[in-house]
Amino acid sequence: MFSLDAFSPETYSERRLKNKKPANYSKVIKNILNFLDIKKKKKKKFPLVKVSFIVMKTNKHEIEKFKKFWENKVDAIHIQKFIDYEDKSLVTNYVNETKCNMPMFRLSIKSDGNVRPCCLGYGENINLGNIYKETLLNIWNSKFMKNFQQMHLQKRAYENKFCKKCLKNTNA
Ligand code: SF4
Repeated sequence: MFSLDAFSPETYSERRLKNKKPANYSKVIKNILNFLDIKKKKKKKFPLVKVSFIVMKTNKHEIEKFKKFWENKVDAIHIQKFIDYEDKSLVTNYVNETKCNMPMFRLSIKSDGNVRPCCLGYGENINLGNIYKETLLNIWNSKFMKNFQQMHLQKRAYENKFCKKCLKNTNA
């Protein structure tokens, strides 16, 4: 999944302000298109490619253009609802009865190679390994990952302090 949240250099820069390096929208788009081209030339079905757009006040005017541009290029377009960590109406006390499905079907690979169980802010603190040190398959099949999945399946997510916070504050 490529998280873009924009269809212009201006909006992309605004969304990526916290990054150490300045955002380079055209380079990012070029890299994704190159990646899609390589996949096509190699006639590969996988990996499936999804582009993501979290809707906010500052980018909602670009949704339609975003959809139109990517619709015949990628396997999926994900227009996501913005989760406001400050929004108290999302806070739930039913953490013990909640589980998260994300660790069952996804891994998030960061640009430094670190792997997380999801793409949410709280998940940034849960490091599963690094693809420069071990294979993704090993990380997926690791004891930690299997225990982590079981913890969620058995609705014991509260045992991980970051997941507990995430489920409590986002009601995800
Ligand atoms: S509960 Fe939150 S932090 Fe934990 S895996 Fe799910 S989305 Fe990520």
